Amino acid sequence: MTRAIELVEVGPRDGLQNESLIVSTDDKVELIRRCVAAGARRIEVASFVNPRKVPQMADAEAVVEALGEVEGVTRIGLVLNLRGAERALACAIDQLGAVAVASDAFGIRNQGQTSAQSAQEAARIVALARSAGRTAQVTIATAFGCPFQGAVDPAHVVAMAKALAASGPVEIALADTIGVAVPAEVTRLVGAVQAVIAPLPVRVHFHDTRNTGLANVWAAVEAGAATVDASLGGLGGCPFAPGAAGNVGTEDVAYLLDRSGIATGLDLDRLIAASQWLSGVMGKPLPASVSRAGGFPAGEHA
Ligand code: ZN
Repeated sequence: MTRAIELVEVGPRDGLQNESLIVSTDDKVELIRRCVAAGARRIEVASFVNPRKVPQMADAEAVVEALGEVEGVTRIGLVLNLRGAERALACAIDQLGAVAVASDAFGIRNQGQTSAQSAQEAARIVALARSAGRTAQVTIATAFGCPFQGAVDPAHVVAMAKALAASGPVEIALADTIGVAVPAEVTRLVGAVQAVIAPLPVRVHFHDTRNTGLANVWAAVEAGAATVDASLGGLGGCPFAPGAAGNVGTEDVAYLLDRSGIATGLDLDRLIAASQWLSGVMGKPLPASVSRAGGFPAGEHA
């Protein structure tokens, strides 16, 4: 396998949204800049959600304004409804990330929408972004399981992906919001979704709640996923998914892929330095392994 995989850095959004510490706007901008310096070219910089429900993201507009335009970088804003999309489009966000939910029970708690309503809203968000001259993508949340209803029918996820692809997003993502997936399921679902949305690419989003995150990344890459979400340091969680751990760590995914001959465009040393800086901001060790262990040993030069 000689190919390249694109990573989307979700640390500034998914990484921070579930932390009790409210990170300052300045530190968020610094985090984004450090990710850019390490090679990130698509970054979820903010979430335009109700600040009363997710106070960690209340400064979304301020982050985008302080960051400004970054050459060659796509700044993504997560939105759950048209109100959020209008907020995001009112500032310099390059791409909207809409969320359709595979499970009714999770959708109602996360965004007050059933699965069908969330898919309709996501399609409207994509259309709104396109009419504003921006791009949009859609993530199907709880694609591998729901904290409230348990199993999610893969056929439902495939049908959602097919319908959403028709709305004109740049990609469809499959998210294991609570971290229950195992590689065999990932192989099947990525393959099945790819078959109905091609040539539109598949992105994947894994939380590492049960230590299957990196194995799931590998299964997705082998199954043909083009893009992988990852969070610097493995920080993250979901305010509406009890017990969900962080995303797969950016430095861990970069190490896995780069050493497997799959280019990510990321600089591991800079990722590790950024992750250690973030650990200092958060005041605690972060879950990702590579920042603690270091990359492959350079060894002695004979
Ligand atoms: Zn997530």
